[in-house]
Amino acid sequence: MKKQVKCPQCGKPVIWSPDNPFRPFCSERCKMLDLGAWAMEKRYIPGEPASSEGSNEASSNDTDSSEI
Ligand SMILES: [Zn+2]
Repeated sequence: MKKQVKCPQCGKPVIWSPDNPFRPFCSERCKMLDLGAWAMEKRYIPGEPASSEGSNEASSNDTDSSEI
């Protein structure tokens, strides 16, 4: 009895067996595509955009001075 999984890249059913070196992917192409997407995602994350929230205090100070 062979286990069947879905290729995470294209969703095709893949036989999970030692014969398939690309498991859980259906082919080398899908494996590379997924690895590429992963690397791109990793590169894409620029960092914490929440740091701009830290300037909240400064902007409230700004409002104060403009009130005068
Ligand atoms: Zn695939």
